[in-house]
Amino acid sequence: VIVGAGVAGIEAVLALGDFAAGRVDLHLCDPRHEFAYRPFAVAEPYGVARSFRYELRKLGERCAASIQADAIVAVDPERRLAIAESGEKLSYDELIFATGARMRWAVAGAATFWGAADEGEVSEILARLRAGELGHVVFTMPAGHGWVLPLYELALLAVAERGQSAGEDARITVVTPESAPLEIFGTGAAKQARALLEQLGVELVTGVRPVRFERGRLIVDPGDAIEADAVVALPHLEGGAPDGVPRDRDGFIATDAHSRVAGLEDVYAVGDVSDFPFKQVSIAAEQADVAAEAIAAKAGAGIEPRRFAPVLRGVLWAGGEAHYLHGRGDDRNGDSGISAGPDEGPSASRVKARYFSPLVDAIVREEADLTASAQTA
Ligand SMILES: Cc1cc2nc3c(=O)[nH]c(=O)nc-3n(C[C@H](O)[C@H](O)[C@H](O)COP(=O)(O)OP(=O)(O)OC[C@H]3O[C@@H](n4cnc5c(N)ncnc54)[C@H](O)[C@@H]3O)c2cc1C
Repeated sequence: VIVGAGVAGIEAVLALGDFAAGRVDLHLCDPRHEFAYRPFAVAEPYGVARSFRYELRKLGERCAASIQADAIVAVDPERRLAIAESGEKLSYDELIFATGARMRWAVAGAATFWGAADEGEVSEILARLRAGELGHVVFTMPAGHGWVLPLYELALLAVAERGQSAGEDARITVVTPESAPLEIFGTGAAKQARALLEQLGVELVTGVRPVRFERGRLIVDPGDAIEADAVVALPHLEGGAPDGVPRDRDGFIATDAHSRVAGLEDVYAVGDVSDFPFKQVSIAAEQADVAAEAIAAKAGAGIEPRRFAPVLRGVLWAGGEAHYLHGRGDDRNGDSGISAGPDEGPSASRVKARYFSPLVDAIVREEADLTASAQTA
């Protein structure tokens, strides 16, 4: 049973359909009937510059999985039951949680970035920056689990906006609880990120937590308030762990190197709901592949399941140029950094998901073919 049909859940279904074909029955639960794919917006982060929707029914047909439009609200691990919101009790041999994370606003008074820079309050701030109406804009994020790249992408986008406008001399500052910018990639990358920000004139305040923005002052902890005309904050993330699954205080689930949930037998957690601190499509997919391999091996597929040992990757766009980040977070082999070109061939900047990426390509192609034949007709 796979719970959640986001990137991680879909990747798990596709991977199991491949590794364990004919050995397992697949059942996917999600209250939504379709998967909505919306490229997050700062530059070209997903490598796919358009949104689309995909009916889960079609996914079921593609990989012989049964689909249930229901949420799983609890687990009874002793009786191996997943309990649905409808009251139905689903028995499982292996259970994968891919329930993602929920975004909550984090800094009172600030504009929250919900994933699209061209929407809502964030777009207004960028427009005012372009019009030269703002002297100082701060970009910040809360402590805890989160998505760190958009913070820097937004600040660099603001630099580009200010460059086009009357507000050319506006100050842009990143205020972050990190002890160094993008430290999750490793110290080499953090050092280069600091140099890049400095070169582009982005000011940096590290080691502080934003509290609230009021009367033109961003209150931070620790330290003195920071004067600003506008503040954009990333949301706080909360994991979507159902009842009966051990979770940390923010709802994230601890897992081992095979994506197995600590303390529960035959239960896995993959994607944003896991407590791995870097939240990204490629990471979610990798965790799903690792879980699928572990399950396929148990089902007798004759494979040696891999351990989760990801390389973190990201792209920052600055002044029309892409800067490619890579690292393992702990500088094993001292290999984190930022380079001018992708370090693993042209696809490295794009979402790398073994099964999900080809599915996205196929859907985009099918849609293009349909449009072309409609135009011909
Ligand atoms: C602001 C922001 C910007 C981002 N930008 C990027 C980016 O540029 N590039 C990138 O790679 N990543 C980006 N990410 C991260 C990326 O979106 C996630 O890592 C990825 O979507 C995780 O996929 P998932 O399948 O774990 O979760 P989700 O995509 O959230 O899917 C979870 C699914 O579970 C279902 N579900 C939830 N609860 C239940 C339940 N109880 N029962 C059944 N189903 C349930 C939901 O309906 C949903 O379909 C960004 C994230 C944020 C917050």
